[in-house]
Amino acid sequence: MSEASDAARLAGETRALREELGASVVIAAHHYQRPEIVALADFVGDSFMLAREASRAKAEFIVLAGVRFMAESAAILAQEGQKVLIPDPAAGCPMADMIDGPGAEAALEAIAAVCEAPVVPVTYMNSYADVKSFTGAAGGSICTSSNAATIVDYHLSRGRAVFFLPDRNLGQNTAAAMGIPEERVFTLRKGGKIEGLGDPKAGRIFLWDGWCHVHTNFTVAEVLGARKRYPGLRVIVHPECEREVVAAADASGSTEAIYKAIRESPAGSRWAVGTEGSFVSRMAAEFPDKEVMHLRVATCFNMSRIGLSNLHASLASIKAFRASRSPLCFRVDVAEEHRRLASAALRSMLDIVEART
Ligand code: SF4
Repeated sequence: MSEASDAARLAGETRALREELGASVVIAAHHYQRPEIVALADFVGDSFMLAREASRAKAEFIVLAGVRFMAESAAILAQEGQKVLIPDPAAGCPMADMIDGPGAEAALEAIAAVCEAPVVPVTYMNSYADVKSFTGAAGGSICTSSNAATIVDYHLSRGRAVFFLPDRNLGQNTAAAMGIPEERVFTLRKGGKIEGLGDPKAGRIFLWDGWCHVHTNFTVAEVLGARKRYPGLRVIVHPECEREVVAAADASGSTEAIYKAIRESPAGSRWAVGTEGSFVSRMAAEFPDKEVMHLRVATCFNMSRIGLSNLHASLASIKAFRASRSPLCFRVDVAEEHRRLASAALRSMLDIVEART
């Protein structure tokens, strides 16, 4: 049998299994997932939408087709009795690995020692439960790339300074978009050194020096080169890209914002997109009336760990669990010591966004 017919058979079997499980299951897929996974999903979104929809889901089982921190967030927000599964528990995120709870606590102490204003953490969704729990304990909030400015502004407007972690680029791009002067933005380097142009006493944002290897490698030369090669082209990038790349691009925005900008652009528009490659390829296929190209092909190998075979295995495990209480594989649990405070930090984000929209 050919590879293509094997894939078609597996897709058919996975769809049949998903239909058999009915309303007991929802499949939530991140935009960066492969097309065959997106085709089977009940909803597709960026990490903010996945967190919000997972918190509203009524199904007993939530299968999160994404990376582990997303499944953890769904598990933190899950209601009593709900179970969250990830088709490949090894789907991690190198950026989320760049800080842990104790490291975040030590950094907050170091910032508090030099900054006059009270400091609260604003933690990017791309972090693990221990860091989200630290955030809740310190009175801070989670954010995503679609609401980082809203969450940061909420805390700054209350006279606080913000410790933004773990993505330096998102923090820096957010600060620039909010018009915060450069001399009031600082970066914590390895070893605890706080670097910046001004006096950290008057600091407003302190950035952890983490990055996403998928986004941080786009360059200004690629932006300029694409524009030169394709007249009329617009370049749109994700704010996890370096500051100068975002400044050189025509637009930047969260995954959802990029999707919306391209979907709503007139037929014949030309776009080069600086973000994860599967997502760019999917938009090119979904919007054939526009020309959508990769600024450079950049794949998140962790996202691509989710495929039909492990999605099928997750659904099969749910079926076996329901039939005979056999062990549920691929389940994501969050240690009780982290759940309550991590949930407070996530709920803080949902509440702030809801109150401001
Ligand atoms: S794209 Fe980057 S931030 Fe997102 S999951 Fe992959 S490595 Fe992590």
